[in-house]
Amino acid sequence: MKIYQPYGLGDCLDLLSELPQAETVILAGGTDLMPRYEQGKVLPEHLINIKHLADLQGITETENGAEIGGLTTIETLRRSGLIHRDYPALWQSTEQFAGVQIRNRATLAGNIANASPAGDTLSPLYLYHAKLKLMSRHATRTIRLEDFIAGPGETTQERGELIHSIILPRVTGSSCFYKLGLREAMAISVVNYALRYSQSAGELTDLEITAGAVAPTIVFLDALTTAVLSGETNSTVWRALIGQDIAPIDDIRASADYRRKVLGRLITHHLQNLGVVCHE
Ligand SMILES: Cc1cc2nc3c(=O)[nH]c(=O)nc-3n(C[C@H](O)[C@H](O)[C@H](O)COP(=O)(O)OP(=O)(O)OC[C@H]3O[C@@H](n4cnc5c(N)ncnc54)[C@H](O)[C@@H]3O)c2cc1C
Repeated sequence: MKIYQPYGLGDCLDLLSELPQAETVILAGGTDLMPRYEQGKVLPEHLINIKHLADLQGITETENGAEIGGLTTIETLRRSGLIHRDYPALWQSTEQFAGVQIRNRATLAGNIANASPAGDTLSPLYLYHAKLKLMSRHATRTIRLEDFIAGPGETTQERGELIHSIILPRVTGSSCFYKLGLREAMAISVVNYALRYSQSAGELTDLEITAGAVAPTIVFLDALTTAVLSGETNSTVWRALIGQDIAPIDDIRASADYRRKVLGRLITHHLQNLGVVCHE
């Protein structure tokens, strides 16, 4: 295996365009990749360690929101006043993300490119309608996150591309993130959701919910939110509508049935806490 450590973005993009795609892997924090190689996954011919690329670092407030460099670590996001103030659901997901050693290495682009339905930053990023700036030697394009993630572990990343940054629009209303894991710390989500809402005179005027680890990709619970905003108050109907938008599976962490039930209960409870009228 050959390891490359480019210091400039141009050099990195040259490598990505010249090396054979099927045998080349980008390494960022390594917290997803390294455990897989330790468990016996075949090493690639070419490994490009991108951690020295200064262009992919940091969080910038922009006219329309924020731009987060792909190499920004989860811990940097957790310490960011801007993320805490303007994107609380994303900030809360970083609070509940692994332990401090992993958070110091794990990057936001790594969490996205890994495309796990249980990736904790994904429900908030979907909720905020994040876009990705993808760069290659020959082009730069911006696409919606939901068009980038195609399925578990699958993306629409093209030959020679890397995730340069994550673009967040300015967000209105309040938002939050909830994660259910098997333990308090270092646990992958059994289910998670992110919720954004606006209220006026105690009434909900806007509501969006995204849920993770309950389908091949993050899902918007649009059937539920449309019904709640139209005045539906029956929690049995709410849970049935949630069921329409999700497709959970059985795995080592939980059964599909448990995921369906627990997500319905958590969201019902959350909406009640927001003062939404609910009848059993
Ligand atoms: C003990 C432990 C606990 C964990 N806990 C959590 C948790 O609580 N929540 C959670 O969501 N995840 C968790 N993870 C998973 C992991 O930490 C995250 O998915 C992390 O964000 C991956 O980022 P990374 O920089 O380490 O990615 P890497 O392992 O370096 O790469 C992951 C994938 O992303 C690609 N990639 C990386 N950067 C780019 C880029 N800029 N452009 C294009 N492709 C890129 C790589 O080629 C690879 O395919 C945990 C992992 C471990 C080992």
